[in-house]
Amino acid sequence: MKKLASDLINLFFPNFCPGCERTLYKNEQSICTFCAFDLPKTNFHLFYGNPIEKLFWGKVPIEAATSLLYFNKGSLTQRLIHQLKYKNQESIGEFLGKEMANSIANFKSYSKVDMVLPVPLHPQKERRRGYNQCNSIVKGYCHIAGIPYSLDSLTRNIDTTTQTKKTRIQRFENVSEIFTILKPSVVENKNILLIDDVITTGSTLESAVNALIRIKGVKVSIASAAVAIN
Ligand SMILES: [Zn+2]
Repeated sequence: MKKLASDLINLFFPNFCPGCERTLYKNEQSICTFCAFDLPKTNFHLFYGNPIEKLFWGKVPIEAATSLLYFNKGSLTQRLIHQLKYKNQESIGEFLGKEMANSIANFKSYSKVDMVLPVPLHPQKERRRGYNQCNSIVKGYCHIAGIPYSLDSLTRNIDTTTQTKKTRIQRFENVSEIFTILKPSVVENKNILLIDDVITTGSTLESAVNALIRIKGVKVSIASAAVAIN
């Protein structure tokens, strides 16, 4: 009966692939098989000194850094991230997190990670949007990797993405005051994976790493769903 009901719902309200707008089959979750096959993966995790790691060299100590997908204008990645960020499509985040874990969780330093944190939004921004798009990526990752996450250990004091506040932000640039560790005891002595949605300059992540490494025994790796550099 339940199955019949869900089949009927699917008939009248089909789920569409956020990548190409094809109707999703029952066994396809989040995105269709064609789009899943077409994802522009970077495979950066295979290379020491990849472009993501180089963003942090000489700035903050990290164990490793990578991005799952290339982000180009008009690309499949851009459509997925847009749906995740602005259209409440958190299942895309979970899908991307799972994809990420399947590629890296058993790999080199990522296999030593024992806790995953999202890059937090400023609380005001999160209230406006209703959710932090990084949280679903984190949950998807941890579901596959079988490790715990903490969504509220790290908090953001300043919204560095708001252009109008630029002059105020510049004073804080590259310092740890942008982020605060709310629960130091939770992250103490942990090997942490910090997850973001899209990496552009890396400066936000740099600030977050700066805040985290002040806590005793903390090591940090970085992974993002997408990267907007070449
Ligand atoms: Zn598709």
